[in-house]
Amino acid sequence: MPQFDMILLDEKQVEGTDVLQHTAGSPAREGGGDETYRCGRCKTKLLVNVAHHDAHGVVVKCGKCGSLNTEPHHHHH
Ligand SMILES: [Zn+2]
Repeated sequence: MPQFDMILLDEKQVEGTDVLQHTAGSPAREGGGDETYRCGRCKTKLLVNVAHHDAHGVVVKCGKCGSLNTEPHHHHH
């Protein structure tokens, strides 16, 4: 099961984007695949066992540390 650390964003980068609010203690999304995504700052699991397309382009606000995270695959320039 692949596990990824997400990329941190700042508020300006997510202006106009829908942000998925995570609540500490339970994943923002769970199930449907085998990829797990952790907060890039505090390593809290934000998306657990999701399909890749469920993480694609998603911005998640960590309920533990308040960081804005996005999935890492599209940020290798
Ligand atoms: Zn966090």
